[in-house]
Amino acid sequence: MSALVLGHKNPDTDSIVAALSATNLYRGRGIDVQAAAQGTPAPETAFVLERFKLTAPEVVTSVAGKDVYLVDYSDLAQAPDDFKEAKLLGIIDHHKLGDVTSDSPVECFIMPVGCSNTVIKMLHDYYGVQIDPALAGAMLCAILSDTVLFKSPTCTEQDKKAAEDLAKIAGVTDLQALGMEMFKAKSNLAGATPRDLIFRDFKDFDMSGHKVGIGQLELVSLELVTPELKAQLKDELSKVKGEGRDSALLVLTDIMEEGSELLMCSDSADKVAAALNTTVSDKMWLPGVMSRKKQVVPFLEKAFKA
Ligand code: MG
Ligand code: MG
Ligand code: MG
Repeated sequence: MSALVLGHKNPDTDSIVAALSATNLYRGRGIDVQAAAQGTPAPETAFVLERFKLTAPEVVTSVAGKDVYLVDYSDLAQAPDDFKEAKLLGIIDHHKLGDVTSDSPVECFIMPVGCSNTVIKMLHDYYGVQIDPALAGAMLCAILSDTVLFKSPTCTEQDKKAAEDLAKIAGVTDLQALGMEMFKAKSNLAGATPRDLIFRDFKDFDMSGHKVGIGQLELVSLELVTPELKAQLKDELSKVKGEGRDSALLVLTDIMEEGSELLMCSDSADKVAAALNTTVSDKMWLPGVMSRKKQVVPFLEKAFKA
């Protein structure tokens, strides 16, 4: 039985493409693996797969008794619910170290860069494994997505270098144009319910015993979020909070204005607002905030610890 290469819950482009690219890497090293995802592609990822004619990984939500490599996370909250009955073989990631554990030695490649696919590109170079043009194009898109066209504070020189190398392999000359096309696809809110939008890119965190769920929508303009939609999102957030969470947040990022508006429903509203340098109001604008991982989560973790 092949080991699974599995991205996180509510998969984003990086986690789905990382399952494909890490599968290419492991297979190139002679390891028998199969790409998997904990859900179907969101609109941005669907655009990327279609653009480079790739097939989405098989959806897997139960891993009991299976061998698993994780890509793009190491938090139990983002793993399948029965993850503790699986055997962890390895991790490739670019987030804070999470709380998964293992019963035998594990191969880990975790780096503080902007995208898991940057790490995976470096590992292809290290192990001398080839990347074909279609896969390179998708990996490039994952980097453009996670680094928000290189504008996120999480972006490093390694990300830019990996993107340039991948663009050459893929035959892409205008990275910004490709990135904008992708973010326009991502900005398509049509046909999605408020709940779909909140969970499109959503992560739960255990912050000192408090369950905090944080969704993020990265849009080419916040004008796409009409006052009616905003009211519906706030209503839905209160339901999401009611499902066993201390706080439910939605970070609406304007990638052109380079900042985010915060919507939240929380038992700790004042604490959360203060941690993000704002106060509770109808319109909480967080200037310069683009990254959940670097500019939201660490400050909340600290506030909940206090
Ligand atoms: Mg991700
Ligand atoms: Mg990522
Ligand atoms: Mg992201």
